[in-house]
Parts: sequence; C-alpha cells; structure tokens
Amino acid sequence: MRTAIIGGGIAGLAAAYELEKARAAGAPVEYTLFEARERLGGSIASEIVHGAVLERGPDSFISEKPAAAMLCREVGLGDALTPSNDADRKTYIVVRNRLVPLPDGLMFLIPTKLIPTALTRLFSPMTKIRMALELLHPPRPSGHDESVAALVERHFGTEAVDRLADPLLSGIYGGDASQLSARTVLPKLVEMESEHGSLTRGMLAAHRTMRAKMAAASHAAKPQGNGKAAPRGIFTTLRGGMQQLVDVLEARLEPAWVRRSMPVSALEKTEEGWKITAGGVTEIFDAVIMASPAWAAGVLLGAIDPVLGEELSGIPYSSSITVNLVYDEKQLGQLPEGFGFLVPASEGRSMLACTFVHRKFLGRTPPGKAVVRAFLGGARNESLLTETDATLVETVRRELSEILGQKTISREVEPEHAQVSRWRRAMAQYAVGHQERMQRITARVAALPGLRLVGNAYDGIGIPDCIRLGRQAALELAQSSKAVSLPVS
Ligand SMILES: Cc1cc2nc3c(=O)[nH]c(=O)nc-3n(C[C@H](O)[C@H](O)[C@H](O)COP(=O)(O)OP(=O)(O)OC[C@H]3O[C@@H](n4cnc5c(N)ncnc54)[C@H](O)[C@@H]3O)c2cc1C
Repeated sequence: MRTAIIGGGIAGLAAAYELEKARAAGAPVEYTLFEARERLGGSIASEIVHGAVLERGPDSFISEKPAAAMLCREVGLGDALTPSNDADRKTYIVVRNRLVPLPDGLMFLIPTKLIPTALTRLFSPMTKIRMALELLHPPRPSGHDESVAALVERHFGTEAVDRLADPLLSGIYGGDASQLSARTVLPKLVEMESEHGSLTRGMLAAHRTMRAKMAAASHAAKPQGNGKAAPRGIFTTLRGGMQQLVDVLEARLEPAWVRRSMPVSALEKTEEGWKITAGGVTEIFDAVIMASPAWAAGVLLGAIDPVLGEELSGIPYSSSITVNLVYDEKQLGQLPEGFGFLVPASEGRSMLACTFVHRKFLGRTPPGKAVVRAFLGGARNESLLTETDATLVETVRRELSEILGQKTISREVEPEHAQVSRWRRAMAQYAVGHQERMQRITARVAALPGLRLVGNAYDGIGIPDCIRLGRQAALELAQSSKAVSLPVS
C-alpha cells in the first residue's frame, strides 16, 4: 500500500515513523511525506544560541498524556527527557501592572482551597463571595455546547473569566475564552456541572477519587531499583530542545521518501486511487494521511467533497508570536520566583504570557544567563504579525520593564540575543460546536476510503495528541494493508 502523508509537522512525522516501523517489520507499505516548507517539524523548532536552548514554538509537552514521552523513549531519547522544575513552579497573573500569584489549590481553573482563595489579591471581595456561594450551585444537565467564558461566568462571575479563564486559555490555545468550546476544552467541568452542580464540589470529589487511586496503585506497585520513581514534572521537554524529536524521527525515515519544499497543490480521488499533485508532478497513492492544518486540508479536500472542504476550512485558527530574549543574569535585577506570568486581555498589552525559561527547565540555559520568552498575538491581536522584529522586541522589552519594574529589567539593558518567531494560523481553536463539527467531518471522511485526518485541529491541540493521532492513523492503514495483501487461506 502506498500512502501519501501531506504535512511534515509532528503529526505527519509520527505517522511516517509508524509506517516506516511497519515496513521494517515486513508490512507491504510505502510512504511519501510531502512538506511545503524546507524544514520538517511544523511548529516545533528549536535552536541553541550562546549555549541556551531557545524554543521558537512549543517548549514542552504535558506529562500526563503519555504518547509524546513514549515516542521519545522508543526512538532513544529517554535520557534527554527533562521534567519541569516543579519545585519552583509559581505563576502570576498581571493585575493593573502588578504580579499576583495564582492562589494555591487552583485545579483546572477551579479554586478548591478556602484560605488561599479568601486571601488572594487576584479577586475582589464580591468574586470571593460568589466563589463561596458556588458550592450551592444546583446540577445542570449538559445540553448545548457553550463557551468556556459562559461556563466559568455562570459559576464564578466575570472577574474569574477575565483574570483566570481567559489568560490561562490564551496561554495554552492563543485563544479567546468567549469563543472556545467548554465541552471540548474543559469536558471534565461540563461533566462535573451535570453531576454535582458546583464545580468546586465536583473538583474536590474528583481529587479525592484520584488520591485514593494513586494510594492504591502505589501500594500495589513493587519498588524498583532504589525504590524511587523517576522524577516527573507537569511538563516534559527534551534537554537539547524539542527539535531533537523532529531530527531523530527524520533520521529514521527513508530519505528518498521525504520531500521537503514540496507543497501538495491538488488532490483527486479516481478509480485508480488518490492522485496527488506536487511540484508539477502527479502520482497515485492508495491512501492519504492529511497532516496539514485543517485550512490547508479544506482547500485540497474541497475539490473532492465541497461539504467536507467547508467544514475543515471552518475550523478557526489563531496566530502567535514568540520572542526569546537571552540576558546576562548580572545585568538583571532579581526576577520574581517561579515560571513566569500571564497577562489578561483587560490589561491592554501585547504580551499574553511570559516564561522565565531558565527556571522552568533546568540544565537548558548556561549558568549566568537568563532566558525570558514572551508569547504575543493570539486570537485578539493578529495585527502584531505585521510588525517588524525590531518593533516586537522593543514592545516586549518595554512591557517587561513596565510589569517587572525598571530595577528588574531596565529598558536600557540590551539582551545578548533576541529571536522572533511568527506562527501564522498555527493553532486550531476548538470553537463552540467543535464536537458536532467533528461528527460531521468523521461521517464525510468515512465515505472516502483510505483518507485519514491528523493534526492539532481535531482531537487535542498539544504534541502528545498530534503524535497519538498520527501513529494511530498509520497503524490502521498498515494493518489494513496486511489484510489486503495477506488473504486468509
Ligand atoms: C508558539 C506555539 C507554542 C506552542 N506550545 C506548545 C507547548 O508548549 N506544548 C504543546 O504540546 N503544544 C504546543 N503548541 C501546539 C503544538 O506545537 C502544535 O499543535 C503541534 O506541533 C501541531 O502539529 P501538527 O503536525 O498538527 O501541525 P503543524 O506543526 O502545523 O504542521 C503542519 C505541516 O503541514 C505543512 N503543510 C501545510 N500545507 C501543506 C501542503 N499543501 N502540502 C504539504 N505540506 C503542507 C506545514 O508546512 C506544516 O509543516 C504550540 C504551538 C505554537 C504555535
């Protein structure tokens, strides 16, 4: 079976890797990976500058979802896996130009500890009263999908949306809480509302169950080696940068089957198979793994099924910008403890979030250097993409000095290195109604045998989900190729 993979981001690479594995194991599969850009990896791109790892795109993946760490171990990167430095984990929200720490006990946006919530400067007394009364919220059957903002507002009020839900989600999705689907982005909260009414009570109950399960599991598990489990942070990265995974995957593929700088320009479904045109040449394949962003998939598949094309093109995307600044630590004052801060839209700033990179992951920045990474743009501020690098760096330096204070980062202090990366329409937004849209898409795809859709637009925005979907699609096709070529005697 000949499979075309369209898009060489992490989803497409994971699919190609799985097909290569199947081929090495004797399955009758061949693949061709078409990537529009001259490099593979899509949004994943890192560089080492002055000995510091600078991530242009994602800096890590969430450890709770196993697919990414599993793949890293499988391809020999187990020793490079580096947990986030959770001992120093502290995140702030900017409120009227001042940093306010997120209160202790916050789980999935839900405050679960009375005293830290009562004492925090993040919320006004009215919001705190509302948070206490939330415990009386009656159960509500989950009906139509709604926005994350609507769900959070109903329980905790607008200030909780403004200072909590919106900055946290724009830090993850580059998105807008008033647009994102509660049912897709926060399904656990929707379930809790229908079961418990109060999200706080639901979260506490879930926490108790999880603790009981963990206690039972650790009781049942036999200690290995010295009895200590390997350290695991909330986030995991690779010591040499996320690019390591891209490079190792690429090295595993058959070089002749990887076509960079080769955008697929047309797709046709004929009786002979899938006709793919790229670089003026048309080839026929038995199957297609579409691993490009949904908007690109929509254009290509729209020629075969206009309804499917429209559904895919209808998935919104946001753009973002990252700015990495490398400083000599001696030139800075004392940065606040922790990983960094989030900026609510109501602060009217260009920055959405800022990470103190040298604190979040140890061992990726040389001693004496500090790396500050700003995240800008997002669904509400796409126009920043047209600014020059110099303007963006200047904006970040000004905002850092206004938020952290001149004594901490003076505007006069020049970073040793500044790196700007623009990510146009890179982050899919799971808008209200996403699941219904996915049902319609799945039904249309089922009518096109040999087609699989993978990537961040469908069932999880993060790297582990993209890897899971890519590998799963390839495995299904590889298995079906065996079934076709090995008829049961
Ligand atoms: C700034 C930023 C920070 C992020 N931070 C994190 C994080 O910390 N943790 C995390 O888990 N996730 C993070 N994400 C999300 C995550 O990186 C992405 O969701 C994931 O990498 C997407 O992978 P993908 O393969 O689906 O798509 P992409 O990486 O977008 O790859 C798609 C590829 O398809 C190619 N393509 C498009 N059209 C065609 C065509 N016609 N023919 C051939 N090729 C085509 C593109 O050139 C591209 O290389 C971040 C994303 C961004 C942008």
